[in-house]
Amino acid sequence: MRLVMIGAPASGKGTQAHKLTRHFNLDHISTGEMLRAEEAKRSELGMVVESYLKRGQLVPDSLVVKLVGERLAHNHLAQGFILDGFPRTLNQALALDQALGEVGQAIDAALLIEVPDSAVLERITGRRADPETGRIYHLKFSPPPPEILHRLEQRDDDTAEVMQARLNTYHERIAPVVAHYRDRGQLITVDGSPTPDAVFQELLHQLTERHPNS
Ligand code: AMP
Repeated sequence: MRLVMIGAPASGKGTQAHKLTRHFNLDHISTGEMLRAEEAKRSELGMVVESYLKRGQLVPDSLVVKLVGERLAHNHLAQGFILDGFPRTLNQALALDQALGEVGQAIDAALLIEVPDSAVLERITGRRADPETGRIYHLKFSPPPPEILHRLEQRDDDTAEVMQARLNTYHERIAPVVAHYRDRGQLITVDGSPTPDAVFQELLHQLTERHPNS
């Protein structure tokens, strides 16, 4: 199963990608995580990446396409994968089609998780990460145990101001990507407002309807 996951920041795409990864035994490829890992290395590439992430801007296509291409080449394509946060532009979608086409493959579905902007803003500004375990909490929706509150961190790009910029970029750049997958009959759209489990069930339902043998 080869899937791509599309959704605004904090739409829950990461959570759903993790659930699908476990369910279908896929390789989970998150470009956001890969880019943050580069940033943490403080390498030359990491410094370039940091300047984009901090401003909530997309990293240039050429850079992300290269990272994803290398990752796909080193993994067992046959086992299947889920791309989380890629493609985010039409150029990236076309580059992915081409890379897969060269090895006689194509994606099985593009999963779009839709959440209104107002809900995204509420979700994101309450999001906190535990640096010791990597777990993500939400001050309102998934409250952390009080004893670890002091050590929780907010991602640099999770503030309301950066978030609005990220949302604007998201809408502008993702529209042609969504149209691309819709035209090819590969698009599956779900409402991301209900609970994570309900969203997951809906994704599974739509996926198995389309790919009964998966
Ligand atoms: P995410 O964790 O998916 O929300 O991504 C965090 C940030 O990484 C985004 O705001 C972008 O700056 C960058 N990023 C992640 N994926 C991509 C991509 N496919 N193309 C360009 N930039 C990306």
